Amino acid sequence: MAFTPTIGLEIHAELATATKMFCRSKNDPDEERPNANVCPICMAHPGTLPVVNRDAVKHVLRVGAALGGALAGQSEFDRKSYFYPDIPKGYQISQYEHPLVAGGELAGVAITRVHLEEDTARSTHTPAGTLVDFNRAGVPLMELVTEPVIQSAEEAGRFARALQLLLRTLGASGANLEKGQMRVEANISVSRDSSVYGTKVEVKNLNSFRSVERAIAYEIERQSRVIEEGGAVVQETRGWDEGRQQTFSQRLKEGSADYRYFPDPDLPPLRLSENPELTPEAITATLPELPAARRARYAERYALKAGDIEHIVNSVERSAFFDALAGELAGDAALVQIAANYLVSDLTGIYAKRGGESYAALDPKAFAALVRMIAAKELSSRGGKDVLALLVEEGGDPRELATKRGLLLLRDAAALQGFADAVIAAEPGAVAEYRGGKQAALEYLVGKAMQASRGAGDPGELRELIASRLTESR
Ligand SMILES: [Zn+2]
Repeated sequence: MAFTPTIGLEIHAELATATKMFCRSKNDPDEERPNANVCPICMAHPGTLPVVNRDAVKHVLRVGAALGGALAGQSEFDRKSYFYPDIPKGYQISQYEHPLVAGGELAGVAITRVHLEEDTARSTHTPAGTLVDFNRAGVPLMELVTEPVIQSAEEAGRFARALQLLLRTLGASGANLEKGQMRVEANISVSRDSSVYGTKVEVKNLNSFRSVERAIAYEIERQSRVIEEGGAVVQETRGWDEGRQQTFSQRLKEGSADYRYFPDPDLPPLRLSENPELTPEAITATLPELPAARRARYAERYALKAGDIEHIVNSVERSAFFDALAGELAGDAALVQIAANYLVSDLTGIYAKRGGESYAALDPKAFAALVRMIAAKELSSRGGKDVLALLVEEGGDPRELATKRGLLLLRDAAALQGFADAVIAAEPGAVAEYRGGKQAALEYLVGKAMQASRGAGDPGELRELIASRLTESR
């Protein structure tokens, strides 16, 4: 295709603060009773004054520091005027000229800015009319804008996922797209001449990473076709129809001048550099280990496989559990690798069947004890999986669980040799076939020896014992 796509993202995230942005009303995204968390300030009654939520400012500054952006020494809030039933004041308090964060980078994508604003109320359209729930009105909302440097749907998806992980790592937001805690808008244009931007179209209502990727891919395709057929792309806002898997026109785009931004006279400028808690140094000192550092640590310290690292790091709970587990194993790389393997493939499978991960209910000490038993060949890999499932189901001590279910492998060398010898004596036909060069006959003998041991023999060890006996007595 001769068209170069250019994509920029605008991502909003509801911040995980106890109270709203400018008042003491509770910020509770799970509140289901409409208009339970409201007060005269977030309902915009006359004579009320907003007061800035310091935790919200801190969250945005920490995000900015994690992105390597420049944190403002002074910042201010502006009024963004527009009239909508879900904006009680008739304007939204946002930031225009002086955002909290400028610049930065994530997943190879340059960031323009990160600023702080307030969320709108939630409208529900019914046949009888539109209902408005103000629980969300005034909830602190972070907006991150990227440079228009993304060139594919996949890259956009990668960036959005990386941001979700970062927000969760920082505890800044639940960042759940389905719940609307993180909302992605994409500005997409295509151009034949890569030195000139095409007309951009904004796509909204993207409430999953898949819809972000599909909507962008759809727009690139649609805009290219419009131009190819001799038409012109119209600057507009489009929605994403999940059912039809296509975008549709919503409204023509207003320019930023329509919002009549001006500094909010009710809110004095934020003098961040004068607050010792909010200087770049102080904010940076509060950052936890970030995903990139965690990936590097897992690779260097434990030499984990790239796929395992990705899977573990991609969930904050999972990697916290893994760190606890590695701690219980005293950081022994060989044991930690076995642990990672069981965590990534088997535990994930068990949780998938149960319909959700819950690491809080799993004891890393017990998991570590299980890993040591597997490493010592006290359990077969099948037995290890079974005991892990039992640990998840009922908890307890892995050795007791394995003993109770008869899953412990026989560690008695003489007894194992006895099973090997007995099967050789009892199966002259298979022995002859194996000696005749038929490999499958060995597996048959191993199976018979396993049966005789009632599953307590380790198949690998029995195979070795039988094969070496047959070779030496040849
Ligand atoms: Zn309020």
